[in-house]
Amino acid sequence: MSVSFNVSDVPRETPASAPEWTPIAEEAARAARVLHPERYRMPRPLHRRVLTVANQKGGVGKTTSTVNIAAALAMHGVRTLVIDLDPQGNASTALGVEHRIGTPSVYELLLGEMDLREAAVPSTASPQLLCVPATIDLAGAEIELVSMVARENRLKQALSPEALTELDVDYVFIDCPPSLGLLTVNALVAASEVLIPIQCEYYALEGLGQLLSNIDLVRSHLNTSLHVSTILLTMYDGRTKLADQVTQEVRGHFGDTVLRTVIPRSVKVSEAPGYSQTVLAYDPGSRGAMSYVDAAREIAERGAGRVYLDFLLKIYAAVRERGAGR
Ligand code: ATP
Ligand code: MG
Repeated sequence: MSVSFNVSDVPRETPASAPEWTPIAEEAARAARVLHPERYRMPRPLHRRVLTVANQKGGVGKTTSTVNIAAALAMHGVRTLVIDLDPQGNASTALGVEHRIGTPSVYELLLGEMDLREAAVPSTASPQLLCVPATIDLAGAEIELVSMVARENRLKQALSPEALTELDVDYVFIDCPPSLGLLTVNALVAASEVLIPIQCEYYALEGLGQLLSNIDLVRSHLNTSLHVSTILLTMYDGRTKLADQVTQEVRGHFGDTVLRTVIPRSVKVSEAPGYSQTVLAYDPGSRGAMSYVDAAREIAERGAGRVYLDFLLKIYAAVRERGAGR
């Protein structure tokens, strides 16, 4: 019996279409950026950037975002300093930095008993990442500061341009406690940018009004350059409708201040500090690690653009002034 068939009958593999391949290629590129950080340098800012990570709501991802974004920048060649300003010392733990009682810490820095160079130590996360740890002593600082001279300016004085230049850091991240007390005010006075992590959960925006009005108060009385530069959505759970609703609400409210990158809820992210590691070291290939690298890159790229624009505007203003003087 002869078998005949038509070429057109032979089933063909469906051609790989662009929409199917694009996400895979993007995923591969994201993984490469985490696994080979030395090949994917992040841009250094023209001027040093100091960011305070604040939200008086507890457990929204302030510390997790601080350590992982700072580690991502450092691993990609940008020298970074983390100031742990929370007596819980969680940032110090995640960065593998000693913070037992008696360790030189941010407490001595605030009291003026030590300078930045003595208190900043290298983190295990990257040689480019330094950390000023917090010990439990800091718990008393909130009260001790009340009676001190220039109580809101203590951290700013410790983070003087000379001290930061000596450490040669491009970025400073200050991890705040979940309150709007004197420690957080010190952080807001010492920085020019605020990064607010918002958890994709019920009542995400609750209490944010109070934080924003405190930022306004600090701006008008103590630090005119302060502004909310970055909002980061954290613990996004794609399985829930609520997470999308919160995301839309926050984007509607804050527009471009919100990073495009959203940090997913991931067990790896929450496990990492238990091993005194960032998620980038604990599981570099995980979605959490990749998202934090993306967030850090966005921050670095935005900063580079903004600072560059500021620089051009300054030159333009200077040229105009000269012209007017003639
Ligand atoms: P606090 O106000 O107490 O300082 P916080 O705002 O600094 O808290 P984190 O400590 O960063 O918040 O996070 C709170 C908890 O949620 C921690 O146990 C952390 O491991 C976990 N967590 C943070 N981000 C994620 C994430 N993307 N996925 C899963 N767990 C997370
Ligand atoms: Mg914290």
